Amino acid sequence: MKIQLLPSTFDAQGMATLEQRLTCFVIDDCVAVDAGSIAIALNGEQRNTVRDIIVTHPHMDHVASLPIFIDDLYPSLQEPVRIYATAEVIELLERDVFNWNVYPRFSDLKNDYGPVMEYIPIPIGAPFRVAHLNVVAVPVNHIVPTVGLVVSDGETSVAFSSDTAETDEFWKIVNEMKGLDALLIEASFPDRMAKLAHVSRHFTPASLGQELKKLTHNGMDIMAVHLKPSYREEIVEQLAALNIPKLGVMEPGRVYEW
Ligand SMILES: [Zn+2]
Ligand SMILES: [Zn+2]
Repeated sequence: MKIQLLPSTFDAQGMATLEQRLTCFVIDDCVAVDAGSIAIALNGEQRNTVRDIIVTHPHMDHVASLPIFIDDLYPSLQEPVRIYATAEVIELLERDVFNWNVYPRFSDLKNDYGPVMEYIPIPIGAPFRVAHLNVVAVPVNHIVPTVGLVVSDGETSVAFSSDTAETDEFWKIVNEMKGLDALLIEASFPDRMAKLAHVSRHFTPASLGQELKKLTHNGMDIMAVHLKPSYREEIVEQLAALNIPKLGVMEPGRVYEW
């Protein structure tokens, strides 16, 4: 399985920067998990192949350029862009984003080929199919309805925590999943901002270190993501000081293969 965390910003030479402002993972060039930077960082080929998007929660850093992505593709889409999310997240997207005020309600619109955007409500705790992938979603502990995911292609499995603080259900499915290859987990704030991390339901390196004790098997790669750009260096240092084997920081732009 090929996974790329899309970059959010580019330097003057057009090179991706390490700062991760927006969240969007692309799996095997065809499925996206969240869509923060989807309209600004997909390459030309991916723009033609990514049609399935799982939205873990409606926060702006996870959906910022989703409306623009559909707008850009509007005349050329020969199949709808499929948005997979829980019923409550779909309701929030329709109420707060695709509401004719912030942007058009694309789920009501058609081009010459047919509908341009379609919602697919996802179950909690039961597997569902997205393109060639089997996915299980479970609620995590964030300030809006949010799901973590375990994604498998039959050979490889990867877990995505999405945005969360201390949680249990997610670890239950992660621990049940034998042979998990990678765990992508958030680490948003440095330790000195534990209070803010707590109220906004995010991890710091210290709280993540505690949380990882709930993991009953090891050996998989653990990649920290969602580092707030203003504190990136500090968070990276504190993560390294945890001395957890195979814990690294995911680099935006780089393609990882598991
Ligand atoms: Zn969030
Ligand atoms: Zn976020």
